[in-house]
Amino acid sequence: MGLVRIRGLGPAGAALANLLGQRAVALDVAGRYVKACGEAVRVEMPLVERRHVKSKVRRFDFYYGDRHIGTVEYRAPRWYIIDKSAWVNWLREGACTGCEADDVEVEVDARGPHGNGQAKVITVRAYVAGAKVPDDAVSFHFAEGMAGFYWVFPYGDGTANVGAGFLGVKNPIPHLERFVSARFPGARMADVRGAPITVGGRARLMEGDTVKVGEAAGLVYPLTGEGIGLAVTSALALVRAMSSRRPMDTYRRLMAPYVGQVRLQGALLRAAARAADAGKAIEAASGGDLLYRYVEEDLSARLLLAVLARRPRLLFSLLRGLLRR
Ligand SMILES: Cc1cc2nc3c(=O)[nH]c(=O)nc-3n(C[C@H](O)[C@H](O)[C@H](O)COP(=O)(O)OP(=O)(O)OC[C@H]3O[C@@H](n4cnc5c(N)ncnc54)[C@H](O)[C@@H]3O)c2cc1C
Repeated sequence: MGLVRIRGLGPAGAALANLLGQRAVALDVAGRYVKACGEAVRVEMPLVERRHVKSKVRRFDFYYGDRHIGTVEYRAPRWYIIDKSAWVNWLREGACTGCEADDVEVEVDARGPHGNGQAKVITVRAYVAGAKVPDDAVSFHFAEGMAGFYWVFPYGDGTANVGAGFLGVKNPIPHLERFVSARFPGARMADVRGAPITVGGRARLMEGDTVKVGEAAGLVYPLTGEGIGLAVTSALALVRAMSSRRPMDTYRRLMAPYVGQVRLQGALLRAAARAADAGKAIEAASGGDLLYRYVEEDLSARLLLAVLARRPRLLFSLLRGLLRR
């Protein structure tokens, strides 16, 4: 395949440009990458160097309001919290940014959430200095009566990356401020920043003649808000597809399992949002290995049916949500 033009240099576009080197020209509206993020990635995600890692996570705690509802723990680190801006800007260095070319054969849209035509949740995060959280544990806090959660991720040196996003809440900053002052009295919030996350659950890998990667393609897990891993996975898949005989068929095939998981999570989020109390629904479902599968992004319809069969009240609440349009 010939020269590739990449628009947008976040994790998806920067990874792709980095991997393609001289085979790509790349451009971004912003000179440096500074987007708000929880900055959590799976340890197996390629292209991350040790110097970008702020903390290594092996424990996941879940709360509903003030109540602890479950823990998922591993022996070895399962997630890294990274300095995402430094990482993306480093990936960009290996790319041919701002280069011009008139023999472009493939156009790639890697412009992130704006313009992908899907439902979004406005999400904010702050760095909280003096939070004093354990450096190998993250926590998720589901809120009563809302679909979404607060997160607390360790960022090294007693600082935490703390954020929040809820369906239907246009400005989560006041919620985040209340959460931080209640949980970390005396701690200081810095660099409070927000951005939309795509939660539509409908991945689209091509539009017209343009190939899409990352969040531009709708590749975000709606229940967890994770999109960095999918951005890199789609970039790697596209590079592999480009050396095959039928690049788009190969790209679609390589991405099919992720597209399926994104779709399933999108449907679940919509059902939970319509249920009487989404946070309560998650609390009710938190037994068994559901939280573990949630962390592993390995939810399946079969697993959910097994959980729901044991919890008829939750099944009723979700069904009511599904039927309410
Ligand atoms: C607050 C928050 C917390 C999050 N936490 C996590 C997390 O902990 N873990 C996780 O995996 N995911 C998380 N996500 C999701 C994750 O940040 C995104 O899914 C991921 O960054 C998507 O990467 P991308 O490269 O597809 O798009 P983006 O990161 O959005 O990058 C798009 C790039 O395109 C550029 N661009 C936009 N328009 C144009 C244009 N017209 N022309 C040229 N360039 C353009 C932008 O400047 C940007 O550099 C979070 C998102 C938010 C908002």
